[in-house]
Amino acid sequence: MSYTQDEDATLALSSVSGILLNVLIPLQSNAIDPVDIDSPEDSEFEKSLCAVWDLSSIHDYARIFINEAQVHRMVLKAISITQRVRTEELAMGILANVACFEDTAIVIVNDEDVTTVLGRIITGSADGRVLVESLRLLRNLLTNCSNKYRIIVADISSYSIINQILFFIYNTMNTELLSSAIGTMKLLISTQPELFNNKQEELNNLFRWICDRLDSLEFTKETSSTIISFVIELVDTDAIEHTKDDVSKIFKYYEKVRHEFLDDEEITNMVKGKDKTFRARKQVPEKTHQHRLQRYAEVTLGSGNLKLAVQLPEGEDLREWLAVHTYDFYNQINMLYGIITEYCTPQRCPVMSAGARVEYRWQDNKHYKKPTTVSAPHYVDLLMNWIQGQLEDNDVFPSQLGAPFPKNFSSIVKTIFRRLFRVYAHIYCHHLEAIQQLNAEPHLNTSFKHFMYFVYEFKLMDKSEMQPLAEKITNVLGDEYVLT
Ligand SMILES: [Zn+2]
Repeated sequence: MSYTQDEDATLALSSVSGILLNVLIPLQSNAIDPVDIDSPEDSEFEKSLCAVWDLSSIHDYARIFINEAQVHRMVLKAISITQRVRTEELAMGILANVACFEDTAIVIVNDEDVTTVLGRIITGSADGRVLVESLRLLRNLLTNCSNKYRIIVADISSYSIINQILFFIYNTMNTELLSSAIGTMKLLISTQPELFNNKQEELNNLFRWICDRLDSLEFTKETSSTIISFVIELVDTDAIEHTKDDVSKIFKYYEKVRHEFLDDEEITNMVKGKDKTFRARKQVPEKTHQHRLQRYAEVTLGSGNLKLAVQLPEGEDLREWLAVHTYDFYNQINMLYGIITEYCTPQRCPVMSAGARVEYRWQDNKHYKKPTTVSAPHYVDLLMNWIQGQLEDNDVFPSQLGAPFPKNFSSIVKTIFRRLFRVYAHIYCHHLEAIQQLNAEPHLNTSFKHFMYFVYEFKLMDKSEMQPLAEKITNVLGDEYVLT
């Protein structure tokens, strides 16, 4: 067995040895730049780097490049001797590519020169393309080397990286760099909050700056989705001072982005949580059956007929259809509740209730063995964490196409829906005014309507459990939906 593996490795290394020699030989004689230093065409050396760039996006090649050929040392040397920004861009791009994979990311982050050069370029380069690749490298290192992040941060913070990234955001005319800088800031805030301990004012200014531009700036779709997930996260974590007006503005912007890019898979996924916007959600892998179903559901929704949209498409698997919608409603409710968290506090809502007569008590048979009264925000937190745990459990919600669902799948789904309903009930009974002030009522109603049609279509709840919102159900769904 090991023989075969060795042979494969040798084969692969030899298959790229020509390309690597084309990089190595000019490097050894310090002759990588062309005679015409300002030539807009790629030099011979740069063409070789392009080939390495392409291959380095494939995991097997990234391993060979880093573990066997030490390509990171080659590109570091190239950066140190070149006078061309194109060469720098390609070199940083190669590092960013290999940093996409955990094992190769760890090798290069352990090389101090990589983080030193990264810090130097981010604070010193004036070229947009070089900076975009450098920030991409930084994000990939932060994502893939979480246990090493202190090293990265120690290296980069000596260059006051945060101020530099803020500088890009405020000053660049390059939308790609703007988007990249905001995405990097978002990742830094969520992965290393301690960096921002005495940066409250900077964060507030940044939030203000973005909010003030939501109406006026025409962002590209990539930037829009980065921005929306960023501001929602800021609001969600209470990291910044914000007004009702801000939330309302963000909400409108979210709706606009959602509406404009509904047909764009990438954006929809990012806004809906593929980028871990609201809470970490298991990704529905692209090209799988579930992903296709999710698209199908979105397109049908676009038609505006919610009652039709919930029906199981012909020939599709019921459990996959249920799974896709469970993800979706979880995210919707998470977002709806997220916008009223400042109103739903332990002081104002000391119990989880739906009107004066209905109280929900939490029980999970782990930490809460008996039904226990907890405050509404605590209850919602427990509830959402529990659902997230189910969604992330591969034995309950398999991510692979064809993997079996558990026997009790439908009863788990029913429990999830019953619990999600309680969040709608609490919002409607206790926070409708806040929702109205935020101009979010139409969205709440649409979301609830969709949810209830789905519940009816697949008989996911008992009528008795719907009682707290009996009137609302008839109002929103129509007269034929009367609970008796
Ligand atoms: Zn509340």
